[in-house]
Amino acid sequence: MDIHKDWHCICSCGSYEHQVNFDYWEDLDGDKNIYMTIHLVEYPFWKRLWRGLKYIFGHKSNYGNFDEFILSKKHAPALREIADILETLDE
Ligand SMILES: [Zn+2]
Repeated sequence: MDIHKDWHCICSCGSYEHQVNFDYWEDLDGDKNIYMTIHLVEYPFWKRLWRGLKYIFGHKSNYGNFDEFILSKKHAPALREIADILETLDE
């Protein structure tokens, strides 16, 4: 039977637009993987169209194409557990 564990982290700013999910999978062959899934904000159609047009014409944000996720003490147990698993993975 496969082993699965997940950790769901919400940004310390409290915004549900800033979420990260970690999934650990270990299959019967012993293959282990950890996936990090980052929530992307879903905008209404016109906002997506406007942003798409800006992108097509080469507009660059001052901040780049990144958003933030603020880590805090409450995330430490999950990150520690994930780091412990990562140390057991093969290269
Ligand atoms: Zn945030």
